[in-house]
Amino acid sequence: MLTALKRSFKGGVHPPENKKYTESKAIEEIPLPEKVIIPLQQHIGKPSKAIVEKGAEVKAGDPISEAGGFVSVPCHASISGTVKSIEPHIHPLGEKIPSVIIESNGEDQISDNITFNSDYMSLSGEEMKNLIYGAGIAGMGGATFPTHVKLSPPPEKKINTVILNGAECEPYLTSDHRLMLENTEEIIEGFRIIMKILDVKRGIIGIENNKPDSIKKMEDISAKFPEISVVSLNVKYPQGAEKQLIYALTKRKVPAGKLPMEVGCIVQNVGTAKAVYDAVAYKRPLIDRIVTVAGCVTYQKNLKVRIGTPLQHLIDYCGGFEGSPKKIIMGGPMMGLALHSLDTPVIKGTSGILMLRDDQVSAVKTTACLNCGKCVEICPMNLMPNIIAGFAKYERWDDAKDAFALDCIECGCCSYICPAKITLVQNIKYAKFKIMEDSK
Ligand code: SF4
Ligand code: SF4
Repeated sequence: MLTALKRSFKGGVHPPENKKYTESKAIEEIPLPEKVIIPLQQHIGKPSKAIVEKGAEVKAGDPISEAGGFVSVPCHASISGTVKSIEPHIHPLGEKIPSVIIESNGEDQISDNITFNSDYMSLSGEEMKNLIYGAGIAGMGGATFPTHVKLSPPPEKKINTVILNGAECEPYLTSDHRLMLENTEEIIEGFRIIMKILDVKRGIIGIENNKPDSIKKMEDISAKFPEISVVSLNVKYPQGAEKQLIYALTKRKVPAGKLPMEVGCIVQNVGTAKAVYDAVAYKRPLIDRIVTVAGCVTYQKNLKVRIGTPLQHLIDYCGGFEGSPKKIIMGGPMMGLALHSLDTPVIKGTSGILMLRDDQVSAVKTTACLNCGKCVEICPMNLMPNIIAGFAKYERWDDAKDAFALDCIECGCCSYICPAKITLVQNIKYAKFKIMEDSK
């Protein structure tokens, strides 16, 4: 059922969408890399612990680490071959993280554990959740929060609405758009599994209206499930942020410092829903994902990539760089992470790789604050970014905390809009880091 209303939230910005380069590019499966680098931490929470040793032979889908606690997930081999080493390796966050490095045997043998269960919908919610946990699923929209934890709200928090996030509001990225077009049935099934686990009768799929083909396809496939509605959202960044999406779709406001479950909602990304289907119907772990490769490469594409594939392999497959990139980003230009090594692996939260030329990276010439108030006007969290960043500049962490720095969702709208080119979001992120460090 399509709800024709077009909805949105207060604040936000309209950066150039730049989706035209890849939105019509069908997903291509990239050839297997010669090696994969699988960080033992690709999720929020405790790192996983390796359960394989150097020299072990593995098949794609075999577990190679176990969860380090409840808020943690295991990792799996994404190719078949030999474990060459377990050592610290560069991670998208910029640090070296213990990682399992597997050299391919070129045969792509698949784990014997992966089998189809046509009767998967008759499993209990608890059985489904265990399969999701075992599959190592962490939020694939980029937040990488362990999915089984999100699906385990405390009993006193009554969930009545599950939201499927198909907004994909970051410029350039089209991986979710293509997934919604090409794997629609699996996503809807995954959504139904999530709804069954949470025992919820109301499911809403929110998609920005710059993806009319995805809206139509999701509407067609979900039409036989009256409990699911598809809602077209206004195009505005950050429409896909959880609190903004919940407000746009339900008009419920998640209180400061609280989680969506406070207002009876849980949000899952469309890629996560597809992974949930694979885990529950096939016992298939999360070993690959869709990645948009855009910017200054010869061929911009949407690729199906094994987790752990080095960035260089994606660039080679896309015909190499066109010119020399000034900046390489994992994710989109608003919230993505700058990368410094082409040996950085694709991880579970990698939705895109963006390479920007000199002329696409704005020269940062910062001036003093003009007191124009634009950052305050557009902040989707109703914060005062100029004030918080000012406290950060003078290391006034308590004042930054009192100004609700921890509520910042790091969307980058304030930095984007600031005419003085002040690096507001970087300063606020640092303030958050210091506040959290002080509270330990
Ligand atoms: S203060 Fe945080 S939430 Fe507000 S616009 Fe800046 S980055 Fe976004
Ligand atoms: S947008 Fe920039 S210049 Fe304007 S008030 Fe905010 S920090 Fe100051």
